[in-house]
Amino acid sequence: MTTLKGCKEFCQRLSEYLDGEIGEHECRLIEAHLAECPPCALVYRSLCTTVEVCNKGVSCEIPDDVRQRLLQFLREHCDPGYAAKT
Ligand SMILES: [Zn+2]
Repeated sequence: MTTLKGCKEFCQRLSEYLDGEIGEHECRLIEAHLAECPPCALVYRSLCTTVEVCNKGVSCEIPDDVRQRLLQFLREHCDPGYAAKT
């Protein structure tokens, strides 16, 4: 069974996942990573809240600023150099 190699790969897949651009198998990989990685799960939950709010109203995309902030967070979380500095 294939698994995501880590947060970096999760990070790359997440935006595709949210856009609905990946298949069921990849969804499972992302969900498996979420179960094992609390920081990623936290990010994902905040994204889910945003998406749910959108889905209750008129259909809309994740606002760009929210997406940018989350991607920024993920980059920092995924970047060993950044982690070493903090
Ligand atoms: Zn992770």
